[in-house]
Amino acid sequence: MPVLFNEAKEHDELKQPYLETLMQYAPESVAGLVYDPGWTQSSAYIDHLVKEGLFDPQEALRAKAFQFNGYYCVLALPSLVATKRKHPIFISQKGFDVMKDESYFLSSLLDHEAFHTDDLANGIHTGSVIIDSSNVHALRLKALICIMERRAYKNQIAHLADRGISDKSFMKWLSWHLEDYASLSLPDPKTELEQQLGF
Ligand SMILES: [Zn+2]
Repeated sequence: MPVLFNEAKEHDELKQPYLETLMQYAPESVAGLVYDPGWTQSSAYIDHLVKEGLFDPQEALRAKAFQFNGYYCVLALPSLVATKRKHPIFISQKGFDVMKDESYFLSSLLDHEAFHTDDLANGIHTGSVIIDSSNVHALRLKALICIMERRAYKNQIAHLADRGISDKSFMKWLSWHLEDYASLSLPDPKTELEQQLGF
């Protein structure tokens, strides 16, 4: 019998087996869905990226501290954009607790977090420009993350109806995050690419 969301939410030992059942719905770009209470596995992954020379050690320390606030974690770095690598998605206990039922959980995981892994693996195809390894370094990390979040929240909102979610407060919560990223402006001087992307 496959593990159900509510069982996984209740019982810690069922969380990883439940996540395995979702891999069939995840796009190619997802390396794994990893239950990570305490963020130990994502920290190990960060160390691995540092060793590979893909993550600046100082930035890596900051990323580790930042993660403790999150529900889910996909590591987004300029050095990972459009490299065709697959990316793990880390899920905290809060990531289960905060979601009312499976549709909300799938919305967050597959319509938002997996959208990040697609952007990272394939490059970021906005209407006007493609961000890949040739131009990503013209973006500050904040700009890169902001673009990725705008796109993921838009995608998540666009698929709420498909997930059977009509909860206005969830929609509002997502829209609030989206507006936050949409209104973010960066201090000057801005690169040409940052200007092109509306910062
Ligand atoms: Zn996100």
